[in-house]
Amino acid sequence: MSTASRLSTNPALPQDLIGRVAVVTGASSGMGRATALLLASRGAKVALLARRQPQLDELAAEISRQGGQALAIATDVTDAASVEAAAAAVLREFGNADLVFNNAGLMLPGAIGQQPAKEWETQIDLNVTGAMRVVQAFVPQLEAAAAEGRVVDLINTSSIASQYVYGYFAVYSATKAFVSHLVRHLRLELGPKNIRVSVIEPGITDTELQGHFTFQGAIDWIKNAAQSIDFLKAEDIAATVGFIVSQPKHVNLQQVVIMPTKEGI
Ligand code: NDP
Repeated sequence: MSTASRLSTNPALPQDLIGRVAVVTGASSGMGRATALLLASRGAKVALLARRQPQLDELAAEISRQGGQALAIATDVTDAASVEAAAAAVLREFGNADLVFNNAGLMLPGAIGQQPAKEWETQIDLNVTGAMRVVQAFVPQLEAAAAEGRVVDLINTSSIASQYVYGYFAVYSATKAFVSHLVRHLRLELGPKNIRVSVIEPGITDTELQGHFTFQGAIDWIKNAAQSIDFLKAEDIAATVGFIVSQPKHVNLQQVVIMPTKEGI
C-alpha cells in the first residue's frame, strides 16, 4: 500500500527542512497536497496520508520528479488500525516523524433536524475522532524526535468557523472548536517536552471541500461568495505552515487565523 519515491533533493530550492520527517493528512487534495509539495520542496521527507491511493501516488511521483522524497500511504484516519499502520510505515521507512500536519477534514453544512444523520456523523468521525486518532498515533514519534533534540511540530487545521456562529454550520463549527481548544490543551502537555503545537484557522479556501455540499443553502452561499471574494488558495495555507515550521525552536505560533482579505466574519 505504499510507494517510496527516490532519495534526493533539488539543490535549486531552499533546503531548510532537510532531515525533517513530515506527515501530512488529507494530502490527496487542497491544503494537504499543497503543503506536502512545499515541505518536500524544502527538503523534508514527506509521508502522504489520505484514502485515495491514485492521488497520493501521483503526488509522490510529482515530488520525486522535483527531486524530493515522499511515501504514499493510503489511510483512513477514522480507522484506528489504518492510522496505526500508517504510523508504523512512517517509522519503518523514514524514522520518527518530527512534523505532523493534522489536516484531513470535511465540511457539510445542513439544517439541524433535517440534515441526514450520516452527514453530521461523518464530520464528527473525521474532524474530531480522526484528528484525535492522528494525535494518538504520532505523539509517541514526536516525543521521541523531541527527546533527540530535533525541532518538532504538530500543526492542526481548524477553521475560522471555530470562533463564530454561522447559520447551518453548527456541527462543522463545533468540530473545529474542538480542534482549536484541543490545541490549547496539547500545548500545555507537549510544550514542556519541546513539541510545538499550532492551530491554523483559515477562512474560505478554494479546494475540493465545498464540492461535497448537499445542502442547497450552502451551495448558493458559496456561489454568491465567489462573486465578491477572492478565496484563499491552498498554497496560501501551505505558505503559512512553511512559516510556522521555519521559526526558531523556542518559538511556537500557537494560533494563526488566515482570511481572504474581503471575507468578513
Ligand atoms: P479538501 O476536500 O481538498 O481536502 C480534504 C482532505 O481530507 C482530502 O485529501 C481527503 O482525502 C482527506 N480525507 C477526507 N476523509 C478522510 C479520511 N476518512 N481519512 C483520511 N483522509 C481523509 O479540503 P481542504 O484542503 O480545504 O481541507 C483541509 C482542511 O482544511 C479540513 O480540515 C477543512 O475542514 C479545513 N478548512 C477548509 C476551509 C476551506 O474553505 N476549504 C476553511 C477552513 C478550514 P481522501 O478523500 O483521499 O481521503
